[in-house]
Amino acid sequence: MPELPEVETVRRSLEPHIVGKKVSGVVVRERRLRKRIVEDFEDRLYGRTFKRLGRRGKYLMFHLDDGQTVLSHLGMSGAFYLRPRLTPLAKHDHVSIEIATSDVLVLNDPRRFGTMRIGHGEDFEELNNVGPDPMSTRRTADQWRTIVRSKKTPIKTLLMDQRLIAGIGNIYANEMLFLAGIRPRRRASGLTKRELGALEDAMHAVLHRAVELGGSSISDFRDVSGKPGYFQIHHAVYDRAGAPCPRCSSAIRRLVVTGRSTFYCPSCQN
Ligand SMILES: [Zn+2]
Repeated sequence: MPELPEVETVRRSLEPHIVGKKVSGVVVRERRLRKRIVEDFEDRLYGRTFKRLGRRGKYLMFHLDDGQTVLSHLGMSGAFYLRPRLTPLAKHDHVSIEIATSDVLVLNDPRRFGTMRIGHGEDFEELNNVGPDPMSTRRTADQWRTIVRSKKTPIKTLLMDQRLIAGIGNIYANEMLFLAGIRPRRRASGLTKRELGALEDAMHAVLHRAVELGGSSISDFRDVSGKPGYFQIHHAVYDRAGAPCPRCSSAIRRLVVTGRSTFYCPSCQN
């Protein structure tokens, strides 16, 4: 499933190819995504020019020259591809947007949990519950203290709360806590200011590193064979139960926190 760094990689890869380009054709083959694609999607998008490609958490926001936005979430299995025009369709190519060069922007999504909506900012009620983006926001340790003061939930569960911070999933939450030296099951309210500061730093370090690694796969992005431009970060703890900690060689442990597989080093994390 694409997490925030994958979505940011998609954004960075796509942006130079579409910004300033006019939409010269729109074809929707399958409207039944997680939210049905509206019947006038094609008419509203046709002839518009892409002004900017933004992102909030895992939502991509294609800003158009008339003030509308195409909001897209990749769900479980969605991917965008740029393909040369006249490339044969692939299975699960649900939406094709011709841009006035030679390329076609394609949304491919086998499981159809993704979304593709068009509207103005206030039309997107799903964004009301999406917190600030961790790549473009920095919180001080004091701000974190205020947030966690009354929170008895495990810190790992809190990190994955989209209302608080957008886009952090299970893999990255595990890695961030390892880097910060904090055990996943610790009560959020019990963390010190120093620990909260370390966690904020770890969030940025893990996300930026993942995006940097994703950047190396940009050449795949225009591949018509349909390889997604994703990447695997080198996990320190995630899915490594029993394997040696990269820092101290202790065996990584697994437990379940709020129903999710959780991994930590018993020596490096307190
Ligand atoms: Zn360790």
